[in-house]
Amino acid sequence: MDKITMTTPIVEMDGDEMTRIIWKMIKDDLILPYVDLKTVYYDLGLPHRDETNDQVTLDAAEATAKYGVAVKCATITPNRARMEEYKLKKLYKSPNATLRSALDGTVFRGPILVKGIDPYVRTWKKPIMLARHAYGDVYKNSEIKIGGAGKAELVYTEANGIEHRQLIHDFTGSGIIQGIHNTDKSIENFARTCFEYALSRKMDLWFSTKDTISKTYDGNFKDIFQTMYDKEYKASFEEKGITYFYTLIDDAVARVIRSEGGFVWALKNYDGDVMSDMMATAFGSLAMMTSTLVSPKGAYEYEAAHGTVQRHYYKYLKGEKESTNSVATIFAWTGALRKRGELDSNEALVTFANKLEKATLDTIEAGMMTGDLAAITTLQNVKKLNTEEFILAIRDTLEESL
Ligand code: NAP
Ligand code: MG
Repeated sequence: MDKITMTTPIVEMDGDEMTRIIWKMIKDDLILPYVDLKTVYYDLGLPHRDETNDQVTLDAAEATAKYGVAVKCATITPNRARMEEYKLKKLYKSPNATLRSALDGTVFRGPILVKGIDPYVRTWKKPIMLARHAYGDVYKNSEIKIGGAGKAELVYTEANGIEHRQLIHDFTGSGIIQGIHNTDKSIENFARTCFEYALSRKMDLWFSTKDTISKTYDGNFKDIFQTMYDKEYKASFEEKGITYFYTLIDDAVARVIRSEGGFVWALKNYDGDVMSDMMATAFGSLAMMTSTLVSPKGAYEYEAAHGTVQRHYYKYLKGEKESTNSVATIFAWTGALRKRGELDSNEALVTFANKLEKATLDTIEAGMMTGDLAAITTLQNVKKLNTEEFILAIRDTLEESL
């Protein structure tokens, strides 16, 4: 069989520890034998970030904006312990935070569903992708503890000096106050990435806030989404047969639980923080969760939602056979290859990405899986494989389908 050719490269960001080991296995065993892979390679492994004073992360972000599609391995976010372990020159920022701010992106998280690993919610048949606004509100707040009686006011002074005042509360005793903000620009970028993502996945988009109570603040989120939808996205949504649906957050929560899934759920910063932990747990396993950073400039970066699986790596270094789940990292690769294929009208590449995903799921459904899944599966007679055996089993399944 001739290898599939690529016209445009994807940006490849290598990473750390156990996921770096898996990264190489996936490339060597599941991609390079079939695809004439073109990547622009950046080593975001912690030693190389340190050597370059983290310039490599900035370069990778710039390349992602330029080429439009990237795949990233999990990376260490350094803390004090890591600083000593790796003898770092300084405490670098999280690479994901650097990428997010450089690309002004929104992160979409979603589960990989497979027979035998059941969500805790029985009605969920299709994935629910969660999009969390990553700027402002309570995460950039300003708070005061009120000692006793007194008047608290909200004051906005225009650049030309005109003051606007509003009473928050006339205190008769002690209490607390808090000021929060957001910007139209950030909300617009959030809305745009949500509409673009829903279109690219052909999934309905839900958005929910508490605008009945917070008429101006949450109402502004609702209005920005609605105006953008009516002006710029209505036609293309209708063409693709998908819908945009706004509802109150409490109504949305009830509907999500009763739904069968298959939509994108956009949420304000705090709602997204709380709901994403609930959804990840409810769908079954962190090792089956993908994460996609979508930039309003039209760039996509794919990765697994989990970290570098440090505990398994230390076992690996001692020569022990660990059983690390590579599914989310494989799906990061297939997500990037498929997107590249779609953008370049490279059908062979899209087909290959789909087949590799199917081979991965078929392998699990045939009862061959890593330890984390073997522990929670409803399938009988499963075989627990180590990291490498699992990847080779996927390769066997893939070979049959090619
Ligand atoms: P982690 O790598 O997500 O792993 C936490 C635990 O979850 C593991 O010890 C393992 O449980 C289980 N697990 C996660 N992924 C698994 C997989 N693929 N297969 C099997 N089990 C899996 O989180 P961490 O150990 O707290 O963090 C390690 C490093 O990752 C940190 O330095 C952190 O900064 C970094 N991190 C990076 C990203 C990113 O790049 N996006 C995200 C999160 C964390 P058992 O040990 O019980 O088997
Ligand atoms: Mg959280």
